[in-house]
Amino acid sequence: MSFWQRVLDLIFPVEERCFNCGSYYKSSELKGICPDCLAGMSFIENYCQYCGRALIGKNLGEDKNYCERCSKQDLSFDYARSITLYKGVIRTLLIKFKYYQETSLSKPLGQLLAMYYQYYYGKEKIDYLIPIPLHKKRFTERGYNQVELLADELAYETGLSVLKNVMLRKIATKPLYSLSAIERSEVIRGCFTLDTNTKLSSKGILLLDDIMTTGTTVNEAARVLKNEGDSGPVYVLTLASGQ
Ligand SMILES: [Zn+2]
Ligand SMILES: [Zn+2]
Repeated sequence: MSFWQRVLDLIFPVEERCFNCGSYYKSSELKGICPDCLAGMSFIENYCQYCGRALIGKNLGEDKNYCERCSKQDLSFDYARSITLYKGVIRTLLIKFKYYQETSLSKPLGQLLAMYYQYYYGKEKIDYLIPIPLHKKRFTERGYNQVELLADELAYETGLSVLKNVMLRKIATKPLYSLSAIERSEVIRGCFTLDTNTKLSSKGILLLDDIMTTGTTVNEAARVLKNEGDSGPVYVLTLASGQ
């Protein structure tokens, strides 16, 4: 920050309003999430090396680096990482972002993704950023795809190229949270398709979603990118994941 900017800030302090607690605070790096709410997020520190979900006692696999589920399964993506557990502050923010038209939340959430992108994937060769698509019907109802807004912000911060219309969602699935893992895979299988005009041959992909629960959705998307698009490695980044 320049000297004059500091002086200006003293005379006209820029105040931000926190989307979570509503309090006003002096602008910091993240626009819209105050330092207290940021500190209150459940950041994931100890995670499964494969799917990135938090390793918490009961879901530890025999090999302590993997969760119980990943000890037994082979997934289509190369590996996945999440920033926080889906609860508390991030849960409130994502509900506002998705269902209450608070689209300007893409700014702080995208900045957070950018920081973690560097941390988790800074050394990987990634050519394209692909947001998980929304079905046309959902897009029309909501007016925006929140994951695309996050992708735009992440691309702005990192310089990654976003591919938005390469993967399409041809089936509008019902919310998956009430289904078992097996039911989820059945429902999600075949719901994505690729625009065949775009060549992904051997390209490294960063697949972006807002929340990962069991990983079924991102796994199916990665399968399609590799099988139908002949892509290279697929890495997944999500803001939050379930336990
Ligand atoms: Zn706050
Ligand atoms: Zn795992």
